[in-house]
Amino acid sequence: MTSNSKHLQTRLVRSDYVAPAGFDAYPTAIHHASTVLFKDVASMRAADWKRKDAYTYGLHGTPTTFTLEARLAAIEGGDYCLLAPSGLAAIAMVDLALLKSGDDVLLPDNVYNPNRDLGRWLESDFGVTARFYDPLVGAGIADLIRPNTRLVWTEAPGSVSMEVPDLRAICAAAHARGVLVALDNTWAAGLALRGFDVGADIVMQALTKYQSGGSDLLMGAVITRDKALNDRIAAAHMRLGMGVGADDAYLVLRGLETMKLRFDAHDAAARKVAAWLEGRPEIARVLHPAFAGCPGHAIWKRDFSGAAGLFSVIFDARYTEAQTDRFVDALTLFGIGYSWGGTHSLAVPYRMQGTRRGWTDAGTLVRFNIGLEHPDDLVADIERAFAAM
Ligand SMILES: *Cc1c(COP(=O)(O)O)cnc(C)c1O
Repeated sequence: MTSNSKHLQTRLVRSDYVAPAGFDAYPTAIHHASTVLFKDVASMRAADWKRKDAYTYGLHGTPTTFTLEARLAAIEGGDYCLLAPSGLAAIAMVDLALLKSGDDVLLPDNVYNPNRDLGRWLESDFGVTARFYDPLVGAGIADLIRPNTRLVWTEAPGSVSMEVPDLRAICAAAHARGVLVALDNTWAAGLALRGFDVGADIVMQALTKYQSGGSDLLMGAVITRDKALNDRIAAAHMRLGMGVGADDAYLVLRGLETMKLRFDAHDAAARKVAAWLEGRPEIARVLHPAFAGCPGHAIWKRDFSGAAGLFSVIFDARYTEAQTDRFVDALTLFGIGYSWGGTHSLAVPYRMQGTRRGWTDAGTLVRFNIGLEHPDDLVADIERAFAAM
């Protein structure tokens, strides 16, 4: 029976047309799929969702997502990569893979706030203890490790208060006690720092930031070198149903090609703006890892080859919060909003007092994401907004 003899409704669903082979182009093809077809029952029965050299189901991978995983792993110098629907989902996947009731996890005081909240939730509802440490603790982390400590989270630098931790010292102390270290490497994006070079076992990135570069999607990645460790996280990935959309995966693949150029441009522009801010009487401190006044600056110099476009300033304490709010509202080239890594500059005030152990600054903290506008225009905009305070 030729397809022409079938009903229209069937022909709309099933076509005999096959596009000619031999098509070649640079972009990775976008494969949309929930169902992946097997050629016969025997190959369906032989399929194993864990394998990356074949396909079983859209959730477990397509040529598009496998390609993105391989490219992200290569950037970090890792061997395995798992994609999650957001950076936070990637963090949660690591915790749920590695922590169980009775275990202990250490997180830095300056950790990405939803990661702190996740730690508290694991503690209140899941029988895990989550303890918070000074991000500048360095080798002193050894004193905090307990027999049931399974995981140490690190973030370099803290994405609001910008302290740069001594990852080498933390990793060495944790490894001496058989404890795994996970690094949130979103700021350095695997470009200014490769997590495995400083000893991390697990590198997490929010691809939402520089990898996308367009402020237009959410995605996260977990990269490892150890197969057994990857397999544990992959089991959580499967059990939690951590799928990502094919179109979003494509957008990240597209972004990766220009990521280094964008990152370097963000870096150069942010340092210009930060240097200008450092000379201003309105500003008490500039918290940028490449500047001497940033806690952990010496570590940044030792371990990092560059800086991202994200940094913070602390206003002189003579300005009230109402005034610094007026400053942020008066900016015209900076949007007010969370996330960062896109081409548009952003400014967000944070209330730090009382949220962190040992936070002594009285002035308002404002975090800047420096986009790809010309830095002279950004400086002029900030200068105008200072006047409006
Ligand atoms: C944005 C961010 C995340 C979370 O990424 P989402 O994709 O927004 O969930 C995690 N860590 C850091 C440091 C971030 O800046």
